[in-house]
Amino acid sequence: MYYLSTRNQQLKKTLSQAICSGLAGDGGLYIPEHLPTTTVNEFSEDMSLPLLAEKILAPFFKDDILANHLSSICHNAFDFPLPIKELTDKTYMLELFHGPTSSFKDFGAQFLAECLNKLTDKNKRTVMVATSGDTGSAVASAFYNKDNLDVIILYPKGKISARQEQQITCWQDNVLSLAINGTFDDCQRLIKTAFQDEKWNENFSLTTSNSINIGRLLPQIVYYAYSSLQLYKKNEDKPGFIVPSGNFGNATAAFWAKTMGFPIREIAVATNANKVIPDYLASGVFRARPSTATLANAMDVGNPSNFERLQNLFPTVEELRDNMSIISVSDPQIKDTIKDIYDKHHIIICPHTATACYADQQLSNKLWVIASTADPSKFEAVIEPIIEKAVPISPQLIKLLQRPAKIRDLEPDLEQLRVVAQDYFAD
Ligand SMILES: *Cc1c(COP(=O)(O)O)cnc(C)c1O
Repeated sequence: MYYLSTRNQQLKKTLSQAICSGLAGDGGLYIPEHLPTTTVNEFSEDMSLPLLAEKILAPFFKDDILANHLSSICHNAFDFPLPIKELTDKTYMLELFHGPTSSFKDFGAQFLAECLNKLTDKNKRTVMVATSGDTGSAVASAFYNKDNLDVIILYPKGKISARQEQQITCWQDNVLSLAINGTFDDCQRLIKTAFQDEKWNENFSLTTSNSINIGRLLPQIVYYAYSSLQLYKKNEDKPGFIVPSGNFGNATAAFWAKTMGFPIREIAVATNANKVIPDYLASGVFRARPSTATLANAMDVGNPSNFERLQNLFPTVEELRDNMSIISVSDPQIKDTIKDIYDKHHIIICPHTATACYADQQLSNKLWVIASTADPSKFEAVIEPIIEKAVPISPQLIKLLQRPAKIRDLEPDLEQLRVVAQDYFAD
């Protein structure tokens, strides 16, 4: 299987090359040259998640040097539970947040870390990430103690929650976390310039692990496949999925799973007040904007990068409209939904999941699965005033909160960053 750039179908790379470079040379995103197809009968009901992952992902790894390692990659990456809970007889919750840092980003980060570790020998690779929240902690946890990889995580000082900062800064050893005295954009800019800088490239073999890396996207197909197979067998009815979306990586994985032939009726997407894509479907005009801060902050994206992959699947706005329902959910609606779900079902949901629950109330009365993207205890400051009750802390989060953290501040200056990084990783 080769991987092509969304902007140039002539630009072909192997999976390993696509994973190591992240972004295609022409600025496009890597997509598989075709999506393998499958049928429901190929999968038995009692297949474990790692085994199912291995079977589903084998065609994507065909002829790549990673193919021999796929089994161990899947067993190491899919090592936490994936509960499917019934909310009503028509609505299920797919809980994607039982990984070590309590968001669905653990799936992609753990899988990518396993792949990169297998692709790196004694010449260490340095992974750089800018984060405004969940990505940083998932990447830190996934790459921590991987022999051949060092990690530099940049986050904007004072602009993330205390619990998020704790989850990013509680690692040490091969993980260097830095609080940048600036914005998220400053963090991203530092990384971009480091990649182009001679001194950096002399000292480090750089790679990035943000959500455009194909190695983070492929494992996300697996949980849509797994849950659709389970629910189809149980209900003899194909479920639809509702995906809370920001950068549209998770939604892309859902569409890929459907296109491959897994029993998925349709896919709906919920966004927060950042509604570039809902507006595009309504008007036919694509207009990127700066992001606005909302209660569902991991979805605060003004120009979703993975949308290029969706457009490759549905090239015209008409095709997109035919294949995707989309609903934008405001902060007051998020608050009402958190309260409503708690009052009716005694279940506490995070603000991101609330956008999908709100969409569920607006959509047809059919079988729907809500992708539940984060544990509510990561967002206790938003939720507790709404439900007027303490949010119980997840066992994973308790573990991370107990680790000693070290906060290191830095000005947004590339040369200072290089010196700090070189010192840190020297011993
Ligand atoms: C990252 C994130 C999202 C958005 O996912 P995309 O793949 O960027 O659309 C939704 N919810 C949570 C909790 C997240 O961390």
